[in-house]
Amino acid sequence: MTTNNWAPDSWTTKPRKQDVTYPDPQAFEEVLQRLGSLPPLVCPEEVVKLRAQLRKVALGEAVLLQGGDCAELFEYCNDDTIRNKLKVLLQMSLVLIWGTGLPVVRIARMAGQYAKPRSSPYETVNGTQVMSFRGDNVNGYELDQRTPDPQRLLSAYFHSATTLNYVRALLQAGFADLHHPLSWNLDHVREDKRRGEYQAIVTQLIQTLEFMRTIGAAGDDLASLNTADIFMSHEGLILEYEQALTRHQHARGTDGPAWYNLGAHFLWIGDRTRQLDGAHIEYFRGIQNPIGIKCGPTLEAAELVRVLDIVNPDREVGKVTLISRYGANKIQDHLPAHIEAVRAAGHVVVWACDPMHGNTETSPTGVKTRNFDNIMAEIKASANIHSSLGSRLNGIHLELTGDSVTECVGGSMELTHGDLAQNYTTFCDPRLNNKQSLDIAFLVASYYQE
Ligand code: PEP
Ligand code: MN
Repeated sequence: MTTNNWAPDSWTTKPRKQDVTYPDPQAFEEVLQRLGSLPPLVCPEEVVKLRAQLRKVALGEAVLLQGGDCAELFEYCNDDTIRNKLKVLLQMSLVLIWGTGLPVVRIARMAGQYAKPRSSPYETVNGTQVMSFRGDNVNGYELDQRTPDPQRLLSAYFHSATTLNYVRALLQAGFADLHHPLSWNLDHVREDKRRGEYQAIVTQLIQTLEFMRTIGAAGDDLASLNTADIFMSHEGLILEYEQALTRHQHARGTDGPAWYNLGAHFLWIGDRTRQLDGAHIEYFRGIQNPIGIKCGPTLEAAELVRVLDIVNPDREVGKVTLISRYGANKIQDHLPAHIEAVRAAGHVVVWACDPMHGNTETSPTGVKTRNFDNIMAEIKASANIHSSLGSRLNGIHLELTGDSVTECVGGSMELTHGDLAQNYTTFCDPRLNNKQSLDIAFLVASYYQE
């Protein structure tokens, strides 16, 4: 990889958006020193493996499912929350494998998705101006916790490590074992026709798995059916933290030592921090990890190509995942030009659709929500636009949880605005709950079967 004049701290000479000012710089410095001395959370070989898998995704030989909370909280580091999220991601991926006939690469927004960019650094609560909640690794949601505390970065590291450790243990112990199919209760699906369609998919899935077991294809020796790779990702926002986890290592099977961010397998740049001359692009261009770039409606096609030229000068296939997030009513105005420009420049990327961030709205009761139909509409529009241009939508990027929250309206449970108050727990963007997430998988699978 060509990385001229790059160093893990070369970003510090560039202008930075969304930075955090700590009241005690000395304490912040000590935390960074400590973070730099702690072991990596992932191995470079795992990063290399994901890069190879994303290459396949970019070539249309596999599909990508990326999902998890908008803002992961330290309190989500518990048995049930981790299990439930893993379960919904696994179920969704089974449905998508069935629907697309392709392997699914799974990346969770998890084990480190703690930092949040905000549209305004301050907000007014009960007449008082306070700093906005910037994510658990910066400050707390409670009003008396809003001052940035560097100790939270250490806490983020340890919560990431604990989450990752439990995910690894569950998978190792057979959580994803297809001999014990996950329960597929569809009672929540209100509409009979839709329930019938989902049931037909589940029946076919289970029959296929049974058949494979009978002929011995899913025997215990076939590890790929017993365990499932789940890679971890977060937005690379707090560059001091990312720098502290950036290590020079030699992944087995590669040419030599190189710089890896070993705090996650995959990192992405948010829509607010992708300035061409900015600190985030500078940091990201030097790491070996596969990376994502959020592409919103304000991104000019020519600028997108410049970003790709900077972060992937060697044009490695699948190194970059473009995560488009325009909104169901804006996608037609932006995606075609982005696809054409990327293709004309000779870049082969993973095209993922984030149908969440362009479809946020305020409910009549003043709550931030998203409408399931708009989410699904953006995914379908994305798939249609890609195929009409001879391109392919390679994956979806969702904000979801495995828990039964009520934050997005619609879906097979037909949640209404009035239902939102029942279990609205997000501190940031509204997430699809476990049932709504499965709905997406069923509908996307059906789309590919048509
Ligand atoms: C997010 O993914 O939570 C996010 C902030 O997205 P974006 O950068 O696309 O607005
Ligand atoms: Mn979000």
